[in-house]
Amino acid sequence: MIKKIEHIGIAVKNINDSNALFKKLFGKEHYKIETVASEGVNTSFFLLGETKIELVQATSENSSIAKFIEKKGEGIHHIAYEVDDIEQEMARLKNEGFELINAQPKDGADNKRICFLHPKTTNGVLVELTQEKK
Ligand code: ZN
Repeated sequence: MIKKIEHIGIAVKNINDSNALFKKLFGKEHYKIETVASEGVNTSFFLLGETKIELVQATSENSSIAKFIEKKGEGIHHIAYEVDDIEQEMARLKNEGFELINAQPKDGADNKRICFLHPKTTNGVLVELTQEKK
């Protein structure tokens, strides 16, 4: 079962400029910056109540974020939903006909195990499942 929106991911060109922009918007600072080398991204997180905003910047030309910005420009990139048991949710959603991008959960930013669902099976929205690492 999907529990709640854990975070919304926003693709940005320059994470320092965007940290300053979103600080102005939210009236508060980001609480962490984290590089996820396996994804070729730098991330920063703002906490708004129970939900987070994740800014994502490509660190290489080959990163999916670089390709996304090239095609669509900066903007909302994905919505991440929190689950208790990611393997179980992946099996359930696969069984329901959704296409999983990752066959196995992988390590994401902010102490999470994650899996993406292909946007072509979710009305064009890139979906991320997240489970807090124990
Ligand atoms: Zn994310």
